[in-house]
Amino acid sequence: MQASRIDGDRANTPTGAREGTPGPTAPIATEPSRLQPLPYEGASLDPGGLLGGWQQLNRTATIDHCVAQLETAGNLANLRRLEDPSREPFHGYWFADSDIYKVLEAIGWETGRAGDDGWSTFVDETVALLRKAQEDDGYLNSYIQGDHPDKRWQELEMSHELYCLGHMIQGAVALSRGAGRDDLLEIARRFADLVVERFGPDGGEPGLDGHPEPETALVELYRHTRDERYLDMASKMVERRGRGLLAEQHFGPPYLQDHLPVREATEPIGHAVRQLYLAAGVTDVYLETGDASLLEAMEELWRRTVTEKTYVTGAVGSRHRDEAFGDPYELPADRAYGETCASIASFLWNWRLLLATGKGRYADEMERALFNGIAVSTSTDGCHFTYSNPLHLRAGHEGSDEDSPSERLSWFKCACCPPNLARLVASLHHYLATRDDDGVQLHLIAPGRIESVAPDGRPVSLTVSTEYPWDGRVEIAVESPASEWTLSLRIPGWSEGATLTVDGESVPAEADEHGYVRVRRAWEGTARVVLDLPMPVRVLVPHPRIDAVRGCVALARGPVVYCIEQADHPADVAVEDLRLDPAVPPQPDGGNAELGVPVTLAGPARVLTDGPEDPYPSLERGAPAPAAEATLTAIPYFRWANRGPNAMRVWIPTA
Ligand SMILES: [Zn+2]
Repeated sequence: MQASRIDGDRANTPTGAREGTPGPTAPIATEPSRLQPLPYEGASLDPGGLLGGWQQLNRTATIDHCVAQLETAGNLANLRRLEDPSREPFHGYWFADSDIYKVLEAIGWETGRAGDDGWSTFVDETVALLRKAQEDDGYLNSYIQGDHPDKRWQELEMSHELYCLGHMIQGAVALSRGAGRDDLLEIARRFADLVVERFGPDGGEPGLDGHPEPETALVELYRHTRDERYLDMASKMVERRGRGLLAEQHFGPPYLQDHLPVREATEPIGHAVRQLYLAAGVTDVYLETGDASLLEAMEELWRRTVTEKTYVTGAVGSRHRDEAFGDPYELPADRAYGETCASIASFLWNWRLLLATGKGRYADEMERALFNGIAVSTSTDGCHFTYSNPLHLRAGHEGSDEDSPSERLSWFKCACCPPNLARLVASLHHYLATRDDDGVQLHLIAPGRIESVAPDGRPVSLTVSTEYPWDGRVEIAVESPASEWTLSLRIPGWSEGATLTVDGESVPAEADEHGYVRVRRAWEGTARVVLDLPMPVRVLVPHPRIDAVRGCVALARGPVVYCIEQADHPADVAVEDLRLDPAVPPQPDGGNAELGVPVTLAGPARVLTDGPEDPYPSLERGAPAPAAEATLTAIPYFRWANRGPNAMRVWIPTA
């Protein structure tokens, strides 16, 4: 194991990252950034909680599954065949290398969190393969090198060469920070140096990738190495967008995020993952350069994304054709695309906006995506995944294509999502809290522990005990030396009537304009802070312009969106025919042990038993058939499709 170039004098802790090592995002410039992430080991999730349990499942099942799939799907074979490409064909899509890098990233963060779990041989062998594959000048891409060496850098609009470099960098940073090994970092820097030489600001060619990703990665490489050329390269790639530098292709410039310069491109359009990875990169550049015009554009892009083009689950992207955002309010439930990677990208972008502004609305979006659009993608066994995430699956759905299957699959021809999940979940604790000169801010609520420092530099800690998201009572044991500082607690946007006590005494729980209640006091010893967030079942109605679900309501409780699945209803009660009286919403009714959820909802409903056969009867003939009484059961949306293919809907027609 090699010493890191950064913090190289710190010894590894027995279980994870070196003390003080940063996590996935580590802004350097203190000026524009409002909040600072904690060191990687500064937060941990209790494995008994929902998020901590998911992190544990990721460790024990998902990561190993991904490692195995890299062999089965041929990603590693693509590197091995470079010795003699005529011996066997290339496997998968031309950007298959990126899956390898994302799995390495997941291992880096997971090793940093809880230690190596037998992955070091895989990492050793994979890094050795990559080292062998890397050209003398630093170039590395198994598709181009194997079959199309003449196309190197020639089709940047679709080649994903720089995209793959981006994921390589992120994997390298994770292995360096998390596992304390810099071997992939050396490979990534050689490749990045080649890119800087060829496309850099100092007279290079005006290159950029048709799939944004290298921007955010290059900023993190700058943060990790303090080599400003990488930040300059990222800034240049951001500035080159929307200037027609990428060649035309089938879906047009928006697909490539090349339709307008980033400061003018404030309507989310085109390929959703590309849009949001770009937004994360632009926000990263802002965090280091302080260019306010970039943040201004990103905040307007965010406003339009959230108010006009986001599903109730936090998912984005309503068009399968080009994996793209639709028009404003074009949010069909059954044909929702909502790619898992897009929800992850949204989470990552919102985190950067949160660091930049300190506004809780960005943490609200992280929470919504996490508990719904992201969590839905993984099965209870941690080894089956969704790619697209509809909010309605019809009875009789034809699910033979991986583009819109009827249940989670173990892998995909285009396998971007599973390893993306693995890397996010491994580092999930990184996103719980931040610090600033005034104190500590708690953004995501989960049982676990936060360790930070008071403004005077002495250590403070928060031990969070809660059943959240199933219950809104949040107990926080604050340990602090005698010191005055502010504990900021996010009051979720969905919450009403929050109450707060400190050592049993009631204190005001009103959120400020940023969405946080600020508890400033002279702390000393252990204080007991109790935040109570009432969690009634909420009946949500769609914006009047979302035609696709007009006349329906959705059910949510706390941050969790619920759905109705056929598996919870008898055959003669088709979930598609259930009708709900929104004045009498279903209520918490125990849980479902099989699905691992303590709170399901149940209540009275009606079911259409005799709908017309004619799909378009006249108004007189088509008068609603008498509806029979039924019981409706709703489960968390993120747990549907764990009991075989069956119909499901989030939006329920009203009686
Ligand atoms: Zn994906």
